[in-house]
Amino acid sequence: MERPISEAYFQEAKRHIPGGVSSPVRAFKAVGGTPPFLVRGEGAYVWDADGNRYLDYVMSWGPLILGHAHPEVVARVKEVAEKGLTFGAPHPLEVALAKKVKRAYPGVDLVRFVSTGTEATMSAIRLARGYTGRKYVVKFRGNYHGHADGLLVEAGSGALTFGVPSSAGVPEEYAKLTLVLEYNDPEGLRALLRARGEEVAAIIFEPVVGNAGVLLPTEDFLKALHEAKEYGVLLIADEVMTGFRLAFGGATERLGLKPDLVTLGKILGGGLPAAAYGGRREIMEKVAPLGPVYQAGTLSGNPLAMAAGLATLEILEENPGYYRYLEDLGAKLEAGLREVLSQKGVPHAVNRMGSMLTVFFTEGPVVTFQDAKRTDTELFKRFFHGLLDRGVYWPPSNFEAAFLSVAHTEVEVEKTLDAMGEAL
Ligand SMILES: *Cc1c(COP(=O)(O)O)cnc(C)c1O
Repeated sequence: MERPISEAYFQEAKRHIPGGVSSPVRAFKAVGGTPPFLVRGEGAYVWDADGNRYLDYVMSWGPLILGHAHPEVVARVKEVAEKGLTFGAPHPLEVALAKKVKRAYPGVDLVRFVSTGTEATMSAIRLARGYTGRKYVVKFRGNYHGHADGLLVEAGSGALTFGVPSSAGVPEEYAKLTLVLEYNDPEGLRALLRARGEEVAAIIFEPVVGNAGVLLPTEDFLKALHEAKEYGVLLIADEVMTGFRLAFGGATERLGLKPDLVTLGKILGGGLPAAAYGGRREIMEKVAPLGPVYQAGTLSGNPLAMAAGLATLEILEENPGYYRYLEDLGAKLEAGLREVLSQKGVPHAVNRMGSMLTVFFTEGPVVTFQDAKRTDTELFKRFFHGLLDRGVYWPPSNFEAAFLSVAHTEVEVEKTLDAMGEAL
């Protein structure tokens, strides 16, 4: 598959944009080579500037659960766009989308719209600190919550150690306010809570991790998370990826969680920039203008993004069978993938929930981030390019989730499994 036009664009892009990209993973650093410049999408497929077609498993990193350019979503955006792109004033579509979010998340009384998942988690943490009057935040290794300073903290060296920044430009003093624990280590979490629970404002977590590849929570880990409430710690379920994906009510519905605050994004904006945080009234009433926790945005609640999100959520709500469909299709991909990998004698662990899936090239089980890091990334590179050259656009890093949409069918899954067999 030749990509001369993408090559030329990438060379030019690198002269004007750091790494040629607006978000790092897009540069293919983990797998090498030139990223295709994608210019069109329809259903489960995308086309690059050279006219090559790919079966898409990136799906814009999660928002496109209905597939690319869903006609109804596009029509609703067009209709709103013709009346004005932004007003910086309240808009009826914000109210409609807020009501949808509350239907999906019965524990949410009030919801505030922002533009990105990063803003949602950053604001939720400010709110948790403002509400509790405490300053420490707990996060888990390998969980990603956007790029706000205090959340760009990854690896501590044990359950009770302070976090160290995982990006230059994050002051150590600031990173120290983030305590980092191992995901799926309930005893580590309980030990920290016993030692310092009263100093912790919030625990933020990915209920099902998608940003270390897919990691599924153990029952005892979920139990330990909820025990944190006994210490007055707020539980922030970061459902930016899982919200409206694992079920209409996200991981909260599917796993029966009781978070104090939820953060949403990706599917919420239906392909345009919209995100949100929400929770119980008494907590959310601390947000300005009702309360002392400041948070604002010029384009927050943008009518186009609200329209795309509302259209997407309406379609999902009207078609509850979609979640069953995605579960069955995901199971088919998972089973087929296991079979292909076993036939080829490749050590593997396939982690999946619903329409989110990752294959790790290591003996399973892969439960923690430490387990995930054992994957053979060299083999992944060749697997990735083997797929790309066969017209399958898999996420360009082993530590990302592949996504199915309702536009994917058994035909696409069969094609993918054939391509995987050949690539391996
Ligand atoms: C994508 C993601 C974010 C960040 O959202 P952006 O819109 O990229 O800022 C935060 N948390 C989770 C769990 C995500 O998957």
